[in-house]
Formats: sequence, structure tokens, C-alpha cells
Amino acid sequence: MCRRLLGERFEVPYDHLIVAAGMRQSYFGHDEFAVWAPGMKTISDALTIRRRVFGAFEIAETADDPAEQRRWLTFALVGAGPTGVELAGQIRELATKTLRSEYRKFQPEDARVVLLDSGSDPLAQFGDELSRRAASELRKLGVELRMGSIATQVDGNGVAVRDKDGHETRYEAGTVLWTAGVEAPPIAEALANATGAERDRHGQICVQDDLTIKGHPEISVIGDMMSLRKLPGVAEVAMQSGLYSGHRVKRRLKGQASAKPFKYHDLGSAAYISRGHAVVSAGPIKLSSFPGWLVWLFIHIAFLSGYRNRVGAILTWCLAFTRDLRRERFFTTRATGRLRDLYQPASGAPGEFRAPAADAAAGTHRPPAPRPAPAKPTARRPGT
Ligand SMILES: Cc1cc2nc3c(=O)[nH]c(=O)nc-3n(C[C@H](O)[C@H](O)[C@H](O)COP(=O)(O)OP(=O)(O)OC[C@H]3O[C@@H](n4cnc5c(N)ncnc54)[C@H](O)[C@@H]3O)c2cc1C
Repeated sequence: MCRRLLGERFEVPYDHLIVAAGMRQSYFGHDEFAVWAPGMKTISDALTIRRRVFGAFEIAETADDPAEQRRWLTFALVGAGPTGVELAGQIRELATKTLRSEYRKFQPEDARVVLLDSGSDPLAQFGDELSRRAASELRKLGVELRMGSIATQVDGNGVAVRDKDGHETRYEAGTVLWTAGVEAPPIAEALANATGAERDRHGQICVQDDLTIKGHPEISVIGDMMSLRKLPGVAEVAMQSGLYSGHRVKRRLKGQASAKPFKYHDLGSAAYISRGHAVVSAGPIKLSSFPGWLVWLFIHIAFLSGYRNRVGAILTWCLAFTRDLRRERFFTTRATGRLRDLYQPASGAPGEFRAPAADAAAGTHRPPAPRPAPAKPTARRPGT
């Protein structure tokens, strides 16, 4: 059962269903933080972050009270994974390069960027050595690392954290951004309810080796939303699982024997820190600083779809890297991120998916008529 953007419902019959609904931001049970601390999962989130970051510099220019100005020039980021690290690096780079001569009342390079995380190191998933190098590069860039800090309160004026000894610290910050965790979207719960599929602790759907749900060979779950052998939520897993499922369906339609189990080919991981600095981990190869950055650039150009996108990205990056020119400076003062997400059921129902009873032969069928939406409302999609 699907819904058009204006709310009208319609049914799409299927023989094979591939679900790839990704993940959404998680506030670990504190969805109220989303009002003040947008996440970084959707384009709407990205526009909100741009509005908040550029808006904070503009407000700081008009602030007469030094404490007020200081607050607007403080950016607190919760979550020191690849997204948090990249955002922290980008804000410092904006402050020290792109905006450095744009204001009269303050020096943009004085902007404070505080990166908070409950773990002991940034980019922990890259291992001790790369994590240590990333921390050192972030410090050189001027990012304040506050590891071992659990966010306990977020409001319009900043964020409070608790350390391992239970001490509370508050950071007055005009902008708080959240990149700390992910959880499955409402459709995962609906899919699990309809099919009896198991879910892991993040709410992802547990799939079998051929990426289908147990007892439902006609339903595959791929990408971030699938849970299989602790594969990471990265684009490469999504692309490879998509290709595999497409081929699997093709084989079934031709009446060929089942495909071999899905095998993930790990091409490595990369995280951007700032211009000239990135970390790359691919098997025994560990790179950081400038070599890591060159490899990061190459990977991201190579994996862009289409020749036009690749040329466009190279030209834009050349201007950004050589002349500090960033075209993407416009922002609106109207909140772009607080509207209801179009994929979130208006009623707050956890999803609208219905699957047929186990259909081992995966023959043609239509999904049964929709159930009335359950009364229990789900949390708003954070950051939107
Ligand atoms: C800021 C950021 C940076 C990243 N950087 C990297 C990187 O450098 N390298 C890397 O490998 N990975 C990166 N990732 C991770 C990568 O983007 C994901 O692993 C990948 O996009 C997962 O693909 P997917 O198709 O499973 O889900 P998604 O790309 O998230 O797509 C899911 C889609 O389903 C839609 N959807 C959700 N619910 C419904 C519904 N009920 N009905 C219909 N549609 C629905 C969503 O709107 C979305 O368009 C990054 C992620 C983020 C957020």
C-alpha cells in the first residue's frame, strides 16, 4: 500500500519486492532534541544545517553583547563518526577560509567548533592508528574534541553533556547539530509486523544469505535497512546488495536455479576531515593527511554516476580548493526542516506495508487490502 504526496492511497501489486528504505537519524529516545539539533540524513536536513550555520554567523554580526556573539559563534556537534568529523572540519574551514574576511564585528576564525562523543576517539571504526591521526588533524584545524561526553540536554541555547564520572558540563552554543546514531524508518516495523521478520537492535530487518526475509522469497531487503553479518551502512553495501537482488530476481523470472549467497566485497572505508586531510582504510592500506585526501577525492569522483556529474564535481572542487570559492552560500530564513516528512504517514502510523502470507513459490499475487492504521503514534522523523 502506497500513498501519493497529497495523501491519496493506492496499491501496487508485485511479484517480487525489493525494500531499500535506508535508515533515519536516531536521538536514542530523545526525539525532543531534534527540534534544536537537526540530524544529517536527508536533503532537508542538509538545507537546515546550511541555514543554521550561515545564519549563526549573520546573527553574530548583529549581536552587541559579547556573550551573545560568542554563543552564536559556537557550534556543538554531537557524534564523532564520519559525518560529525566531516561537518566539524567543514565549519572550521568555512570560518578560517571562505568567510574569513566577510564580517566587521568579529573574526570568523574565532568560531568555536566543539565535537562531542560518548566514545573515547573520533572515527573509532577506522581503528586506533587512523583514529589517533584524525584526532590530531582535527585539533590542528581548531576543533575542540570532547570525547567521553554523553548529551543529556539540548535546547535553543546549547547542549549539556555528562562525562564518565557523572560530571555535567554545559556548552552555550547557537547551533547544535546531531550526527550521533541511526535507526530504521517506520516501514521496517511495518514490514516486520506483516512478515514476521526479525529485527536487530537498530530496527534493521534480518535477512538470509540471499537477502530475502525468512519465509518470503519474494521479498528482499537491501542496503542500510538490511541486517546481515554486521555489514556496515555504507554506499558500497547498498550498491552491491542492489545489484545482487536485481540479478536474483532476473534469474527467478527466467526459471534458473537460485543465485549463490550474497558475498560482500569490501573495498575499504574513507572519511573526509578537511581540505588536504582524509583517512582511508582498505585492507592493510591505511592512509591519512594528504595521501588519504587524494585517494578520497579519486574514490568519490570514480563512484559518481555519469560523466556530467564527474566533470561538474571536478570543476566545482577546483574552484573551491584553489580560490576558496563556494557557490552554495544562499540560505532562507524560513525553517526548511520542520515540515512533516512526506514519507511519514500523516496519521503517525508506523507504516503501511502489508505482505502476503508465506509464498514459497513466489507466484503472482496482490497484497491484501490495507488494515486501518494502528492508534499508536510513532516519533516524528527526526530533523525534518
Ligand atoms: C551525511 C552522510 C554521508 C555519507 N557518506 C558516505 C560516504 O562517504 N561513503 C559511503 O559509502 N557511504 C556514505 N553514507 C552512507 C550512504 O549514504 C548509505 O549507506 C546509502 O545511501 C544507503 O543506501 P540505501 O539505498 O540503503 O538507503 P538511502 O540512500 O538512505 O535511500 C533510502 C530511500 O528510501 C526512502 N524511503 C524511506 N522510507 C520510505 C517509504 N516508507 N516509502 C518510500 N520510500 C522511502 C528515503 O526517502 C530514501 O530516499 C553517508 C550517509 C550520510 C547520511
